[in-house]
Amino acid sequence: MTLPGSPHIAYRGNDLFIDGCSARDLTARFGTPLYVYSRQAMLTALAPYRQALASRPHLVCYAMKANSNLAVLQTFAQAGCGFDIVSGGELERVLAAGGDPAKVVFSGVGKTRAEMRRALEAGVRCFNIESLPELDVLSDVATQLGKRAPVSLRVNPDVDAKTHPYISTGLKGNKFGIAHEEAVAAYQHAASLPGLDVVGIDCHIGSQITETSPYLDALDRVLDLVEAIEARGIKLHHLDLGGGLGITYTDETPPSADTLIGQMLAKIDARGHGQREILLEPGRSLVGNAGVLLTEVLYLKPSPQKNFCVVDAAMNDLMRPALYEAVMRIVPCQSSGGTAQTWDIVGPVCESGDWLGRDRELAVAPGDTLAVLSAGAYGMSMASNYNTRGRPAEVMVDGDRATLIRARETTAELLAAELKLLQT
Ligand code: PLP
Repeated sequence: MTLPGSPHIAYRGNDLFIDGCSARDLTARFGTPLYVYSRQAMLTALAPYRQALASRPHLVCYAMKANSNLAVLQTFAQAGCGFDIVSGGELERVLAAGGDPAKVVFSGVGKTRAEMRRALEAGVRCFNIESLPELDVLSDVATQLGKRAPVSLRVNPDVDAKTHPYISTGLKGNKFGIAHEEAVAAYQHAASLPGLDVVGIDCHIGSQITETSPYLDALDRVLDLVEAIEARGIKLHHLDLGGGLGITYTDETPPSADTLIGQMLAKIDARGHGQREILLEPGRSLVGNAGVLLTEVLYLKPSPQKNFCVVDAAMNDLMRPALYEAVMRIVPCQSSGGTAQTWDIVGPVCESGDWLGRDRELAVAPGDTLAVLSAGAYGMSMASNYNTRGRPAEVMVDGDRATLIRARETTAELLAAELKLLQT
């Protein structure tokens, strides 16, 4: 059976392998639910970004919200990547993983003063600013520290990324960025503030984008602004074109990173902006297809209306289906050759929305292991402890070596930060 996504996740005979490790061995060793990532698959996904940008100054800033495990960050840091962060916590993760703060861009609509201070002290590369009041606060914080904060404004180009509304960010009605019509005045304001250095422009229009046209439309709008801003004497060094490239979950056919970047660079050059440094913030496309979630079948509940296959992973472990009605492939880790039936794959959480897949044709029995494919992005990083469930363990595979990169969370750890009331 051919699987969508990465060649690093494939059957050998009847057994599913992630690189050189069988799912059967991994679950025997680490238990379930279990996230497994292929290091090679991540580096393979990064390669076309690097190749397409090789001829000019660039920085690939991995959007670590997609998967922020330290070993994942270490992998990208060692490959020379920077990071796109959205919180002080993410900054600490970059530093703990050995990432270079000078390659960090700090995005997000609600940075606190404390987060700004810490990022200035660490020496981040750039703050991507999303509102006028945020400009004022950052200037104030930087001035108090005797520093100047490098800034780029995230502009909202008002283009439709043609993706799920929850992950579309470049439309007028979204909370993100500074409206296109207000951007020039916002840049003039930024340039007038004592604590800021204007260094670039930024835009990110959404996630799981499967066409090039929204990117190219947004790029035209951004370049219009660059020209208008520079006409007012404000120099912009870099163009940060965000992330958002989609992956194949089932039958999507997104462009490859090199095709997309090739088309963007052609437009940048044609409009005379070829000298600028290019920053990109890919998340999902670097890690999504590099990961799987392995889960054990607990019970089968056939009924005249619906057949339920209850597994030990739930919406708290993998939120995408419940949150976006995302469809992710689910396959057996050992193909049994039994008779397939139609099942809803559901977890133990007490919500009807707790499902991982609907109407799936599978031959399953209790004790079998299933793999949810393409679970490397927005899987573990969105996991929660709902229903007092410890989050899954994570394993990184490299060839035939498997390393535990996050231990399964214990109930004792979940309770440790909580305090009972004193009895009077
Ligand atoms: N940059 C910013 C500002 C984002 O908000 C996101 C995701 O929401 C990304 C980059 C990464 O997007 P993706 O994982 O779709 O590449």
